[in-house]
Amino acid sequence: MIAKTTKPLVIVTGASSGIGLATARHLSAAGHPLLLLARRVEAMQALKLPNSLCLSVDVMDRAAFLSAVETAQARFGMADAIVNNAGVMLLGDITRQDPVEWDRMLDVNIKGLLNGIYAVASGMAARGSGTIINISSVAGRKTFANHTAYVATKFAVHGLSENLREELAPSGVRVVTIAPGAVETELLSHTSDAAIKAGYEDWKTSMGSPVLSADDVARAVLYAYQQPQQVCIREIVLAATRQQA
Ligand code: NDP
Repeated sequence: MIAKTTKPLVIVTGASSGIGLATARHLSAAGHPLLLLARRVEAMQALKLPNSLCLSVDVMDRAAFLSAVETAQARFGMADAIVNNAGVMLLGDITRQDPVEWDRMLDVNIKGLLNGIYAVASGMAARGSGTIINISSVAGRKTFANHTAYVATKFAVHGLSENLREELAPSGVRVVTIAPGAVETELLSHTSDAAIKAGYEDWKTSMGSPVLSADDVARAVLYAYQQPQQVCIREIVLAATRQQA
């Protein structure tokens, strides 16, 4: 259903579960038309959010990503914000982990995120307005056991976001980095090492249940986005109160 809306288009990647899904719900409740991207399109369609275009796009597929953004902008107007959230965490002992897992994390977490930036940055700079929100992690600021390749990707997100912020600041475009600690989502489920997975679950349990929820992170995203355009919340770091590391 396409209803009249005065709010601008926001793009959310990785909107089929976890933080992306919660962010999509909050943005929709705030009245934004949405372009929702992930590989599992049914999960996004099941949200039944008004004024939302849900497309099955792998963020690594630059052409498909650009085409999806073009389609959404033709329908809803130019994108005012993108939440580059799609990501994978494949924890592993770096001496034994299959490098294919490193490749996947580097491709999705860094190159996929850069594809999102590429899709919107030049248009936002030309219009002199817009917001790019990159979901990094506390693992983009400090190290953790068995996180070497994942940490590499999230330090990259922090680094490229700060550089991008400096590049785009003169044109009035905001770049925001959101760095959550442990959040209860599907993220851990893709790690292939059962012992590492079990250890991570124990770590979460030791913090007391629950750790952060996807809604907690979505509220931080909305807080940063909903500031006046001249206010740039450069970074938000949030974690469960009992998370020590
Ligand atoms: P989930 O696994 O629940 O969600 C990940 C989302 O990314 C899914 O919607 C998935 O959709 C999408 N995704 C994965 N690969 C691709 C791809 N190649 N193309 C398009 N979409 C893709 O995890 P979270 O919600 O926790 O993760 C979201 C972000 O938050 C990630 O960047 C993660 O690193 C970060 N983060 C998470 C923390 C946590 O503890 N959970 C802590 C700190 C940061 P689909 O499979 O349908 O393609």
